[in-house]
Amino acid sequence: LFISFEGVDGVGKTTQVKRLRRYLRDLGRETVVTREPGGTPLGKAIRRMLLEGVVAETAGGKPVSGAAALAAETGAAAKARFVPVDIAARTEALLFAADRAQHVAEVIRPALTRGAVVITDRYIDSSLAYQAGGRELTAYEIRNLSMWATGNLLPDRTYLLDMDPAASHARLRHGTDRMESAGDGFQSRTRQAFLDLAAEDPDRFRVIDAGRSVEDVWRSIQADLDALLAA
Ligand code: C5P
Ligand code: MG
Repeated sequence: LFISFEGVDGVGKTTQVKRLRRYLRDLGRETVVTREPGGTPLGKAIRRMLLEGVVAETAGGKPVSGAAALAAETGAAAKARFVPVDIAARTEALLFAADRAQHVAEVIRPALTRGAVVITDRYIDSSLAYQAGGRELTAYEIRNLSMWATGNLLPDRTYLLDMDPAASHARLRHGTDRMESAGDGFQSRTRQAFLDLAAEDPDRFRVIDAGRSVEDVWRSIQADLDALLAA
């Protein structure tokens, strides 16, 4: 059973993923929780390129702001210097697809093969909402790229946590990254892109009103999951 959680930043995906993991483990199901971008060691390097807009250099190059924080994260990188990079739209789409290809090959497929439940915090629909949403690439291109990258692996169920982006943005406790700082209206457009995707595939998607309490949101998910497990 393969489950993905989707939605704009700050809607509570991570909290609900943890809640679901606890529930499934209490039921005695082997449960693998993972995320994108960054669900593998290779993916973590890709995540850093994408979110910080920097790449590590082994010698020379000027340190940029944020380099110290990045270096502090991994001891091995402490001596590395970071240079800013300008990521073209196609490159960005390929990097997300590369992250997903590795994620599926290394984590998701092996877990599904041995019968585990896999829960991922973001998957293909994030690419469709973000990389194709209002940027230069079409949903058709992004979908084909991602389906190729994953060998056509789609989730059995996708929970779209949906709420007013103004409210979700206020919830975010961490600083904004390169993606989140994209201009005003971006979160609203992305939210709508997710809702359109859900409308196209009502069998796979469940749209969950995430503007409610954590417990209420969880109860909606639990009710659907119980039906899914019984089916
Ligand atoms: O959910 P998480 O904070 O890990 O996502 C990291 C950032 O990457 C988010 O700001 C999200 O908007 C962005 N993202 C993206 N395209 C994806 C996945 C995530 O732009 N396919
Ligand atoms: Mg984030």
